[in-house]
Amino acid sequence: MKDVTETVVVSEEKGHKITILEEWCKGCTICVEVCPTDVLKMKPIGTRWQGTIAVVVDADACIACMQCELQCPDFSILIEKGEKKKKKAAV
Ligand code: SF4
Ligand code: SF4
Repeated sequence: MKDVTETVVVSEEKGHKITILEEWCKGCTICVEVCPTDVLKMKPIGTRWQGTIAVVVDADACIACMQCELQCPDFSILIEKGEKKKKKAAV
């Protein structure tokens, strides 16, 4: 099987991991449209038939709602929920 180029971005604040399988992304824009917190946007890439692929622009805004993964028709975006960092108790 051919290797698939992945982009993996992890939210520093929440630890959510967002993986985009670049070769599988067909540039349909669904993930950008369904993301409620503007984590994703389309990036121009001339070698694709749609001319764009999805990229992560604000990983810390991800709330791990899973909508992008559930609605991507090509299974090209994956979300792994991270552990929330516990806030230090005020002394
Ligand atoms: S929904 Fe899937 S195929 Fe469509 S742009 Fe997003 S990652 Fe790419
Ligand atoms: S899991 Fe939700 S908040 Fe995170 S990138 Fe996907 S649609 Fe956006």
